[in-house]
Amino acid sequence: MDLKTSYLAKHVQELRPSGIRKFFDAAAGMKDVISLGVGEPDFVTPWNVREAAISSLEEGHTSYTANAGLAELRQEIAKYMRNYFSASYHPESEITVTVGASEAIDIALRAILDPGDEVIVVEPCFVSYGPLVTLAGGVPVYVQALKENDFKILPAQLEEAVTARTKAIMICSPNNPTGSMLSAAELEALADVVKKHHLLVLSDEIYAELVYDEKYTSIASLKGMHERTILISGFSKDLAMTGWRLGFVCAPEAITAGILKIHQYAIMCAPIMAQYAGLEGLRNGRADVVEMRKSYRRRRNYIVQSLNEMGLVCHNPEGAFYTFPSVESTGLDSEQFAQKLLHEEKVVVVPGNAFGASGEGHVRCSYATSMSQLQEAMRRMHRFVSRL
Ligand code: PLP
Repeated sequence: MDLKTSYLAKHVQELRPSGIRKFFDAAAGMKDVISLGVGEPDFVTPWNVREAAISSLEEGHTSYTANAGLAELRQEIAKYMRNYFSASYHPESEITVTVGASEAIDIALRAILDPGDEVIVVEPCFVSYGPLVTLAGGVPVYVQALKENDFKILPAQLEEAVTARTKAIMICSPNNPTGSMLSAAELEALADVVKKHHLLVLSDEIYAELVYDEKYTSIASLKGMHERTILISGFSKDLAMTGWRLGFVCAPEAITAGILKIHQYAIMCAPIMAQYAGLEGLRNGRADVVEMRKSYRRRRNYIVQSLNEMGLVCHNPEGAFYTFPSVESTGLDSEQFAQKLLHEEKVVVVPGNAFGASGEGHVRCSYATSMSQLQEAMRRMHRFVSRL
């Protein structure tokens, strides 16, 4: 081992780099590439939201804010939680504004985990969950949401994975990478297991507003679940604000107090101009979210049909902006498929195994790309699949 690496903590040395970045790096030097790889909106943040940040700077708002975030932003988040999530959170003691949902996940895990505590991680899942559990001193226990169950975890699977060390379960609905969304009845069934074993749920609901068919249900709104839920969300996806780095975490008072201690020491507060922008987004940005949702829905319908027509079987994702087609019919594994597609047709997709073992045999295609780019990507993929 070289000298420099040897300074790194062992558990950091053992951490695998994200499987998503690898493909972006490979595509970076190529011309005429269409990326269905990125997990971010192709829209620019709505103008009134950008303008609110500009105005805040013009007015000289360049200081720290309260650690938990601007009071008026937390009040607006509490209102949003009531209206859209049917969940009730006190703005002064149960909401923390963070640097993206990413920070929220990290500090929530650090707040609840003792060394060796187990967290059941439902995969395929967002790439950060397992590594962040490990970095918080916990042990990720992966449970596979299977294709035959539309990539939804069953209560029996959860029950089977629970041990005396289990502290929490991490879920994400609508899901990255599969787009699957848990219905109210499915969440109720999971909540029963959670309550029976006195667990916590870390519920990543960042795609809650990007749902296309059914009404959205938050697990925090179910009976007896407020005190067991740490709800994570943010502004990156529905308001197209990835670069602003703004998110939040809602949790019962005692857990929020712990989360806030870590946030205080590690971060202080989220950037003030981003907070003013987020405030405007919650107050006056909802019509834009509706428009963006309509556009994603059209694209989802198009890409799902195209993928199925070319023989890449794909379930209909109820939310987020990802499809997760099977590539098994091509005889290639997910990594080979993504590599070959990139080199032969210059289309970036992400191999499913980047999101956990149960993602193997699939690739993630994001449809947060313009319709014309999507159409060209589908033409190229069709040509590629036909050749195989
Ligand atoms: N959670 C999920 C499921 C995501 O897909 C992402 C980003 O891709 C995040 C969290 C991180 O979001 P943020 O930009 O708010 O940190």
